[in-house]
Parts: sequence; C-alpha cells; structure tokens
Amino acid sequence: MPNELRATLEIPALVPAAGGAVAAYAHGECRALGIDEARALFRSGDVIVAHALFVSGRLKVPPARPLYDAMELFAFVRPAEPCVPSALGLARALSLTAPHSFEEAARALHDATRLLLDELRAKPEAERANLRALASSLERAGWCWATLILDAVGAPEKALAPIAGFDTWRRLEQWEDEPAPDKPGSLPVEPDEARTRLAKLVGMSGEVRPEQESYAEDASYAFAARERAGAPKIALIEAGTGIGKTLGYLAPASLWSEKNGPGLWLSTYTRNLQRQIVQELARLYPDPAERDDKTVVRKGRENYLCLLNFEEAAKRTALAPGQRAVALGLIARWISATRDGDMSGAGFPAFLASSIPLGEITDRRGECVYAACPHYRTCFVERVIRRSKNAPIVVANHALVIAQAVGGESASLDETTDTPPERRVRYVFDEGHHLFDAADSGFAAFLSGVEMADLRRWIRGPEGRVRTRMRGLEERLKDIIADDVPARETLDECIAASSALTSEGWLSRLHNGAPRGPGEVFLAAAYQHVRARSQNEDAFYSLEAEAEPLSDELLEAARRLGVGLARLSTPLLSLAHRLRKQIAEKAKELEPYQRARIEAAARGLERRAKIVVPAWIAMLSTLETGEGRDEFVDWFEIEREDGRDADIGLWRHWIDPTIPLAGEVLAPAHGALITSATLRDEDGTADHWQSAEVRTGAAHLPEPPKRATFGSPFDYAKQARIFIVRDVNRRDADQVASAYKELFLAAGGGGLGLFTAVRTLRAVEQRISAPLADAGINLYAQHVDRLDTGALVDLFRLEENACLLGTDALRDGVDVPGRSLRLVVFDKVPWPKPTILHKARRARFGKSYDDLLTRLRLKQAFGRLIRSQRDKGCFVILEPATPSRLLSAFPPDAPVSRCGLKEAIGGIRDFLL
Ligand code: SF4
Repeated sequence: MPNELRATLEIPALVPAAGGAVAAYAHGECRALGIDEARALFRSGDVIVAHALFVSGRLKVPPARPLYDAMELFAFVRPAEPCVPSALGLARALSLTAPHSFEEAARALHDATRLLLDELRAKPEAERANLRALASSLERAGWCWATLILDAVGAPEKALAPIAGFDTWRRLEQWEDEPAPDKPGSLPVEPDEARTRLAKLVGMSGEVRPEQESYAEDASYAFAARERAGAPKIALIEAGTGIGKTLGYLAPASLWSEKNGPGLWLSTYTRNLQRQIVQELARLYPDPAERDDKTVVRKGRENYLCLLNFEEAAKRTALAPGQRAVALGLIARWISATRDGDMSGAGFPAFLASSIPLGEITDRRGECVYAACPHYRTCFVERVIRRSKNAPIVVANHALVIAQAVGGESASLDETTDTPPERRVRYVFDEGHHLFDAADSGFAAFLSGVEMADLRRWIRGPEGRVRTRMRGLEERLKDIIADDVPARETLDECIAASSALTSEGWLSRLHNGAPRGPGEVFLAAAYQHVRARSQNEDAFYSLEAEAEPLSDELLEAARRLGVGLARLSTPLLSLAHRLRKQIAEKAKELEPYQRARIEAAARGLERRAKIVVPAWIAMLSTLETGEGRDEFVDWFEIEREDGRDADIGLWRHWIDPTIPLAGEVLAPAHGALITSATLRDEDGTADHWQSAEVRTGAAHLPEPPKRATFGSPFDYAKQARIFIVRDVNRRDADQVASAYKELFLAAGGGGLGLFTAVRTLRAVEQRISAPLADAGINLYAQHVDRLDTGALVDLFRLEENACLLGTDALRDGVDVPGRSLRLVVFDKVPWPKPTILHKARRARFGKSYDDLLTRLRLKQAFGRLIRSQRDKGCFVILEPATPSRLLSAFPPDAPVSRCGLKEAIGGIRDFLL
C-alpha cells in the first residue's frame, strides 16, 4: 500500500453519535469521543467524515476545511451515481455490509474510502489519463483527496493550466435537430384495449387485480376523441394507495401515444413520483435504449446546468484555491457522466450547494443567449427540450405544465425553443389533489422589489459594482439590430423607461429612507403601510397587510409607478414587432439557428410586454379603482427570511386559481386524467365529488367529467391505529417534546413528526435528540440539520429506526414504504393559516372550507403510513380538541381512540412491536 494511502487510512473516521461522536482508527479500533474531543478532532481536519456540513451542524462547530469528506471522494470516483449522504448511504451505494452501530458506521467510512481508491486504481489507463488533469487542478485547489487520487491514477507529465480538466463539457455529444412531429391524431383507446395492455404490463411480476383493471378501463375515457372544442374528456379518478394506479393509467396512455404520436404529458407534483413513474416505464420499454428514445423527463430549465455559466464560474475561480474550486471540479466530473444535466436529480452531489450557489450555474435569470452561446449544440436544456418534442411520453410536473400555459417556462424562463402547449393534447395529472396549489402559484403575480430589479437587469444588464455574466438587451441584440435604426431607437426607449424599476441596492436605500425612482418610492410607501397595519412590525416572520384602505401617499406612488410601467411596455412590444419583421423580411437568408435566436428574443420581449408588465399595471390600477376584486385577492407583504427583510411588494392571487387552470390548461387539451388517492373530501354530504371538481378545475368545463373511485385494498382495521391524545398541553414545549420522545421510543423509531410552526419543531428537536440518540435512534430535522429536504427523507428512508421532524410541508414529500415509516405524529390539527388569501377563499367557498382543507391534509398524511399489505402504522394527533367531523378523513375501518398519552404509548408499543 502506498505511503500516502496508508497515512490517510490511519487518520480517524468520525460519525456524530450520542454525546459527541465515535471515531474509528486504523486497524478498526473504535472510541467514543465526548463533544469537546469530537469537535477538536473535526476542527483539526485530519479526519474522514460523510458530509462535512451535516457533521459540523451536529457537532455545532463551524465546518473545518480542508478535511476528508468521503462524499466528495464518492462524487469524484462515481460521478452522477446517487448516494445518500451518510456512512450507511455510502455502504449501500458501494455494496458494502450495512453498518448497524455508530462504530460500524465509522469503520464503514474507512472501507468506503479504501474501495473507492482501489476502484480508481483499477480503471483502464485511458480513463485514468483523463482524470489526471482534473485531479491535479483539485490538488492545487487544496482538496485533501487529490494527492491520493493522483497516486491512484498517476500524476500528469507536464505542468498544466490552473483549471485544466474542468473543461469536461468539451467531450459532450452534440444534439441533432429533428423535424417537428406531425400533429397528434385522435384515435381513441377502448376500455378492453386498456385492460389487455395492463395485463401485458403487469406480466410476470404479478396478477392484475380487478380494481386495477377497472381503473385502467375508466382511465381510457381521458383518451377518447374530443367532440367539442373547449370540452376535453376529463376523467377524475380517486384510487386509494395500493391499487396500482401508475400502471393503471400507463396502459391506456401508452396505447394512445402509440396510435396518435407524441402529445402525451404525464405530470406529477413531487419528484418522488416522477422517479416512480420512470421506474414503471421500464415495464413498457424494458430495453433501456428504447426507453431513452420513447420517454423523457422534463423539468423547469432552472433545474439544468448551464454550461456557459459553469465555464465562466470555473474561469473566475481559476486562481482562487479553496472549497469553491473543489466544488466546481467535482461538478466538472459530474458533467462528464450525467445523462441529462439535471441538478435536481438523484445523481447530482447536492451537498456541493454549500460551497457554490447552484443558481450561479443554472439559467435562472433569463441570461441564456441561445444560438449565440458557444455551448448551444451541447446544451443540456436545449437537448431535453428537443427530445421532449418527439418523445411519445413526457414525464413533467404540474408547475412546468402551468408555466408553459401562462406563456413561459417559469418566472425567469421565457425565450424557450419549446413545443407550443397546443401540441400536447393529453395530460395525466397524477397527485391531482395538488393541482389547486400548483395553479395557485403558477397563475399568481408579484410586483415586488426583487421582481422589478430582475426585469431592469434583463433590460439593462448589471449596473454598479455587480459582477455577473448577465448581459442587457443591448448586448444581446446588438448584432441582430445593428443596421435596423428604428429597432435601435426603440431599444433606447426601453432602456430609458426601465428607470421606473427598482435597481441594485434598492432594499438598503429603502431602509435608509432614500428610495430612487417610482418603483422604489412605491415600495417605501408599501413598507410603511404593512408595518403600520401589523401587530408586531419587527416579527421574525413575514408580514402582510390588506390592500385597502390606502394612504394618499401610497395611492399616489402606485399611480406614478403605473404610468412608468405603461411607458415601458409599449417600446418592449414594438421591439418584439421589429424582430418579427426581420424574420419575415430576411426569411431566405437567415440560418435556422439565427431564426431561432431572433424568435427567442421576440418571445422574451412579448412575454414581458404582454403578460408581466400589464399584470403589474392592472394590480396598481385595482388599488385605486377596486376593479378585479371579485376574481383576485391582492395584498402587500414584507417577506422575511431568518428575521430579515428579503422582499417587499404587492401580491396577487386568483381567489379560485382553477378558473385559469381550466381555461388555459384543461380546455385547450383534448383529454386529461386527474387522479390521486385524495381527490374527494368525504364530509358527510351526499356528493363527495363536488370538492374534487371544484379543486381540479373540472367544475369550470362545459362537459361533466367521468368520475370513478376505488378504495384501497388494505385492511386498515388490522394495519392501522389512530390516537387522539387528550392530556398533552400543546402550549407547554416540555410536555409536547416529552410526548414526541415517548411516542417515538414506543415505536422503536420510524416516526415522522409534523409541525405547523418551525419554532415548535426546533424546541422539540432540542429536547429530544439526545435521549433518542441514547436509545440508538437517529433524529433528523428539517430547519435544523444542514441537509436539503430530499437528503433528509433519503436518510430517514434508508435507516429503519430513524425519526424525522418536519413542517407540515413535508407531509406530501415523504414516500417511505415499509417499516422506516410506522408512526406519524402531528403536534396539532393542521388547520390552514389565517392569511389574507385564505380569508378571501373562505368567503368564496364557505365556512366549511377550513374543514375541507384540513381533512384533505390529514387524509394525505395518513396515506403516507400504509403503502403495502405488510405495513403497519399509527397516526397520532396531540390535540384534544380535534373535532369529530374531521375524522372522516381516515378510512372508516381504521380504529380511532381518544385517549391519554400513556394509553397511546402502550397502544403503539403493543401494535407495532
Ligand atoms: S444555450 Fe443557454 S442555457 Fe444552454 S449553455 Fe448556453 S447560455 Fe446556458
């Protein structure tokens, strides 16, 4: 064994544990360290850990750099392979024996290190040669592992440039243009065809259940031929967990696309389900090459790496050794292996986000220069957009589908070369219960400091001392309009009119009482208005205030800003017209890439001139006239992050966002299946479907939907228990924490604690993490652990006896089948927050609206618990006053007990253990 390697394996590996940490030393001996000793070892840097930031959070010391982070070594040796960020995760990813104690976990870090370095050493010479330049650059950046890696792959023969090896983009394959597919046909899918296809899909792996068969037959309704424009075939199907609905709808959906060509979009709300659908697609296309050809996963473009931004970030970092350069080097390695450039996918080393803001290397701010970009032909975003034009099946998400209907991919993403939505004639919305929320965000508008500054930057480019690659309109368009004098003059008008918007540093000027221009003056008046209407203007959380009545000063500021914005939208639109004219006039001489670039620029201008700015003008006008208040709810808000002002502005949401959802997404389609395990609110009234139709937009369409419901095949009487605990005082943090601790211990771990307030979550975590650790139960917590939510859920899923605390928002993002999730505890009934928006909706939908939302939340959370016939689970609410009318959220055969904590603890222990 080389000396360097021996030296590294002789340094200890450390995992956080109860009271401090456990360290494994050379030859396998282990020692428990007290917290001070653990901190000192960690700070020394001579230590191997898994996920340095997480460990620093657990030990409550600032992260030490450099140190030996095994996750980084994994990202280098096995780029783009998923790995849960822990010793157990590494062991699983490397097919090592899974550790069952802190000692074994620490030893596993040594084993993983050894194995990864051996793997490098065993790579063919050509591959090792490719890695030398990058490893050498990472060594200069100060990366601990680089010396060992160079030992394994061999050192380069000559001196190299500072970021040699970072340019992995050079080896990416170019995409090829393909002609647009024909318009999709309208051949229907008959129920018996769907049944036959389902039998084929289920094939060898099991039997088709009668409910699943009926599901597939009913789902085929959404693939019938449309008979009337604006009247799509809508099927609303509620199917309890365990029915097998994914294959149930893939059967008719795949048949439809085979008969009619591309035009089918499967849309989910969570990434988890997206991944699940991709797995199920393997049954349809078992050959990976065919699968790749026939299906594509689409996300908003802000999820994909922008090669131009990456190249520029790498060049800027070239002479600055440190963790940022290391992170960019590891991302370079990932670029060489990723299939699609998706940074939100499982194979991206998300822990690098602590070293480099990921927004810097994506195209979040509309900076893309399209065909003028040197990476255009290898660009990940362009590649996926092209693939999705021709792929028979596109797997997307609700937010993207809605953003495209609005007229751009997302707030900042507009000049897309994407397929127009009218080509997508069939949708399957899985997790259909989230359509309301997705539409609520997708059709909302914000006139805020951040939004205005973004638009100004898009028009003018960076101003002042801001260093960014972003270029303004002038830079982006100068070669296109060089000999077009009217276009140049119009561009000058746009630039002049953008002075109405906020600019860099607007927030500090506002705090200092020195706003500049109509946008900032308006925000200063809005800031005063919100603070004046608040009970506690210096609260930690965001503040909001109604948009009436308003002071004369605020009204006058709104009027002036409205005039400024009107001056801006006219030249933006004229400039778009000039560009379109160029396309028409130069039709013969323009190369396809030049045409695409001009079209993209025109679309970007039009989106801002026709959608963004007019929406702002309308919001300002409503402040004065009150027009539009029947449809919208407007309010002012000071958005706070960690107690600090982050944004200020005027917010607008539809009172009923399913109106635009129905009008702009559903009505233009020919058919849509909307499905979920929780579509209907069973409120005791005769028509359970009314809530489903109201919340999915089906109620706003001319033809009634087909409705079907399939109960879950599980035996809840045997598999579930529900406890409503009567004797815990929710206002006493000690009592609440102690209840969580005892409940988690009773279940032996596998508990998910859900909270409606971050403050309560933190108070509970602080009190129970040590006693749970003493019992060998790892506790992870959102808002406490320095891991993103996806990684926390992965850890929770991987460790059978871990517990996880999260806010209510985690309720739907957790997909943990099996024993890892066997207990869900709510600290209180998850009533909706009493916001201005909620007040307006309650006035529109009636008093029972609160009950409806709460029942649906409970139903969704309960649905996480039992995922298969072998699962058993308990559900606890620590609120004595839980109204009985909410209990219809649970399956009727699931036993409910109202009892004291002691009884609940005993009941859980007896039931689960
Ligand atoms: S084409 Fe746009 S998104 Fe793609 S690499 Fe270039 S600038 Fe980035």
